[in-house]
Amino acid sequence: MKKIQMVDLVGQYQEIKEEVNIGVQQVMDTAAFINGPEVHGFQKELEAYLGIKHVIPCANGTDALQIAMMGLRLKPGDEVITADFTFAATVEVIALLGLTPVLVDVDPETYNIDPEAVEKAITPKTKAIVPVHLFGQCAPMDRLLEIAEKHNLFLIEDNAQAIGATHTFNNGRKKKAGTMGHVGATSFFPSKNLGCYGDGGAIFTDDDDLAHFIRGIVNHGMYERYHHDVIGVNSRLDSIQAVVLRAKLSRLDTYCDKRREAARKYNLAFRAAADIVLPKTVNNCGMICDTCDCHVFHQYTLRITNGKRDALAAHLSEKGIPFGIYYPIPLHKQKAYEDSRYREEDFPVTKQLVKEVISLPMHTELDEEQIAFITTTILDFI
Ligand SMILES: *Cc1c(COP(=O)(O)O)cnc(C)c1O
Repeated sequence: MKKIQMVDLVGQYQEIKEEVNIGVQQVMDTAAFINGPEVHGFQKELEAYLGIKHVIPCANGTDALQIAMMGLRLKPGDEVITADFTFAATVEVIALLGLTPVLVDVDPETYNIDPEAVEKAITPKTKAIVPVHLFGQCAPMDRLLEIAEKHNLFLIEDNAQAIGATHTFNNGRKKKAGTMGHVGATSFFPSKNLGCYGDGGAIFTDDDDLAHFIRGIVNHGMYERYHHDVIGVNSRLDSIQAVVLRAKLSRLDTYCDKRREAARKYNLAFRAAADIVLPKTVNNCGMICDTCDCHVFHQYTLRITNGKRDALAAHLSEKGIPFGIYYPIPLHKQKAYEDSRYREEDFPVTKQLVKEVISLPMHTELDEEQIAFITTTILDFI
């Protein structure tokens, strides 16, 4: 059996090697390292794939979130509501910009932000909601858009984990993750579902004025050469990363299918096991969760409900099976983001999840034999 990896980027590279190598060589030969035709080509192809008017490439997903918030002209003191159960980048940029992060609890089934908790947290200072499409599944966008509209708030999608996922609205309309709010942000970090071979990110919007404003922000606040109208940043995607991303974007739907296929096999194996809660997909499309395109399984995350999550983790390590604990500490309990306004009783779900979740190897190269070894090892232990 091939050694099991959490993410097998070396294996995935084998299939796109020629295309990537030729493209990278061409970048070297033409020295179009920054903002060259590859970056422009990728931008256009991603716009077409997502069905959105503007993709603005930038240096990483954290920058994408920060720039999205700068683009919406959020001001120090404005409150921004986001999930307590996510990667810290989301709350970090809110705090960095002098905005006030307001963390709320998540849904016990999908681990995505709880819209009722969002609505309860709204004050006259609230300006934006940042749902994170966690582990590859869209947050409850129907309800969140309704809340945003009712309270006149911006909706910024953190789509670092769900590129390629499709949300079906209650009225049957479908949209890609990251294109439903006022602005979306994503990451092309190597281990993401659409990952490059370094750092990269992008911002999405259908709003022409916002897109123009953001294109200046990523380039030192310049709209005309050496005229700096606003305080910007320097955040660029380079051409070599764009070569990799173009090769992978044309295969993204196949990659998503492979992840769902692995999820389906995991689900089948764990279906009847006591003390294991499977990832649940909640959608409006009426399909079975691991066959429909609403979930792209950035992570395949189980809950171990008998108190033995850490013992299982140790056992997996012994057997050479990698795993991840995403996330081990609720954000409201992180030193950097403590706030006396948080009340422990407001976070029952995140406090339970951090003790129970475990994410299994999930990537496009997982084979039958590896999945069988992982599932049998876990079932034997449980
Ligand atoms: C990875 C990730 C980010 C940050 O992306 P980088 O490219 O690493 O800066 C932001 N939010 C979430 C939810 C992520 O998973």
